[in-house]
Amino acid sequence: MKKHNFSPGPAILPASVLEEAAQAVSDFNGMGLSLLEISHRSAAFTAVMEEAVASVNELLDLDDDYSVLFLSGGASSQFFMTAMNLLNEGETACYADTGTWASKAIKEAKLFGTIEVIASSKDKNYSYIPRGWKVPAYAKYLHITTNNTIFGTQYHWLPESDAPIVADMSSDIFSRPIDGKNFGLIYAGAQKNLGPSGVTLVVVKKDLLGKVNRVLPSMLNYQTHIAENSLYNTPPVFPIYVSMLTMRWIKANGGLEGMEVINRRKAQLLYDEIDANPCFEGATVKEDRSLMNVTFLAKTPEWEAAFASAAKDAGCVEIKGHRSVGGFRASIYNAMPIESVQVLVDVMRDFAQKNG
Ligand SMILES: *Cc1c(COP(=O)(O)O)cnc(C)c1O
Repeated sequence: MKKHNFSPGPAILPASVLEEAAQAVSDFNGMGLSLLEISHRSAAFTAVMEEAVASVNELLDLDDDYSVLFLSGGASSQFFMTAMNLLNEGETACYADTGTWASKAIKEAKLFGTIEVIASSKDKNYSYIPRGWKVPAYAKYLHITTNNTIFGTQYHWLPESDAPIVADMSSDIFSRPIDGKNFGLIYAGAQKNLGPSGVTLVVVKKDLLGKVNRVLPSMLNYQTHIAENSLYNTPPVFPIYVSMLTMRWIKANGGLEGMEVINRRKAQLLYDEIDANPCFEGATVKEDRSLMNVTFLAKTPEWEAAFASAAKDAGCVEIKGHRSVGGFRASIYNAMPIESVQVLVDVMRDFAQKNG
């Protein structure tokens, strides 16, 4: 039985993308060669890279001021690479601490400059997005995590900031329309909403670079990768290809507007059930609920254990909450069909009838 995959990451990909990727592994474009055994400098792969870059430019409505990079090292390497490339010793960057990933970004950035945490929701176990904060004029940049994968909160507004905004969009990239030009730098590990693990998308405004005094190793300098179009060294060929296919699928399914419409419908279906069901409650404040990672708690430990088993029996997998929240987390990224969300909702309803 095909499972309903609610994994937080690596996560569900469109079925058609998986089929096409499988085909490319055995025979890419009828070349008689696998995608995995051709040069990253071949015409065939260059075309893949060019389409991937063009799709990011189109989806995020970027202009020539921006460069699109596909790097390795995960979003976690961007935690330090951003600060290393953008912040001098003695300069200050501002961070909003909205969860585990944000706090890891803060820890790494502190290696390279002064980090001021100007907003935090740590006091309530990151169950909300803090509001009403100001970015001071001396900030070199503001760092935010647009969607908090573990806690299930998401920004539904863009902070006001004169300083460029650096955003970790690992778990909500391409889930809704955004104007990339509102950001100084965007990064996203592919494995949540874009492709397989192994590649990280970076979008950077070029005029922010080249301003730090420190010596940067070539591989950790964005300018190296910009100059070589992400081909300075061997890039993660397969993850880039699958990400390119996913962006093709996004464009064929209404683009980011289309993604948002269906993502809202899916999230509402599930949150409505959480709010109506006597056995469960949401784990975050309502106004900051994530459309990607839906976190909820069972009202008793017995129900928690029993529901975990009922969901599993219905083929709903990977819904266990992160240990720092407990309960459940249903990740319903772009590729998650609404039919699978409906299956989970039906299990919840059925569970309440028997237990509630
Ligand atoms: C998963 C995740 C990360 C870490 O990504 P890696 O690619 O494993 O380093 C960082 N930020 C957010 C928001 C995430 O969801």
